[in-house]
Amino acid sequence: MTRVAAPWLRLSLVWHLLAIGLAVSRPSLWRLALEAVLLNHGLIAAACVWPRGRLLGPNMSRLPERYAARRQVGLTFDDGPDPSVTPRVAEILDRYSVTATFFCVGSRVQQHSNTVRDLVAGGHSIENHTHRHLLRFAFLGPAATAEEIDRAQCAIADSAGTVPSYFRAPAGIRGPWTQGLLERRGLRLVSWTRRGFDTVTRDPDVVVRRLTRGLVGGEILLLHDISTARDSAGEPLVLTALPRLLDQLAKSGLHAVALPRELLV
Ligand SMILES: [Zn+2]
Repeated sequence: MTRVAAPWLRLSLVWHLLAIGLAVSRPSLWRLALEAVLLNHGLIAAACVWPRGRLLGPNMSRLPERYAARRQVGLTFDDGPDPSVTPRVAEILDRYSVTATFFCVGSRVQQHSNTVRDLVAGGHSIENHTHRHLLRFAFLGPAATAEEIDRAQCAIADSAGTVPSYFRAPAGIRGPWTQGLLERRGLRLVSWTRRGFDTVTRDPDVVVRRLTRGLVGGEILLLHDISTARDSAGEPLVLTALPRLLDQLAKSGLHAVALPRELLV
């Protein structure tokens, strides 16, 4: 396990052993021992489902101070590539001379490798968002978790020609061993500061407001380059929200950027 995640899990093991010892040596206190174990499980579960939480290890939800000082905000898109949406997202970004980070699903990358190659040619980064985007990702055992991470790494390396350095869990929910597996692979966990809920909201202005109200440099924004929510004209919502977002950022003197690779050096 890892330098950071291991102490938590080791502490959990010791806690279990103490509880078992208590129940065996003082059978009348078995209920207290059981409650101690349940409390422990509850804390670990809370740490897993809290996307921006750091109890299980490092989790990047903001850019470092020097990027904040330059009024830069991280722009990220999840769940693609989608050949009917992603190229149009890239066109908008190109129009504004902005590069972004795409957290891609490995199986989709295999199906749409040309779309991924075009993103890379446009200066965008392709990062790891698991191979199948399973909603039960957090409940997988260590071997299955590793397989989800590794298959996506390979799919992206094969198609994009670049090896991901960042990882984002589906819905930001990871299992207790995810952190250790990431660190052994040199991957860094990334969450976000704000999300637009653009896959469920039909009004692009609402999405833009969520992303920009009180926005300051250093925040990381999450959108989706996939054909899910549609606006009133039947267009994928991200395509109407994104130009408005970039206009709003420009008005506020903020600059959208891909997650900086130099953080990893
Ligand atoms: Zn996702």
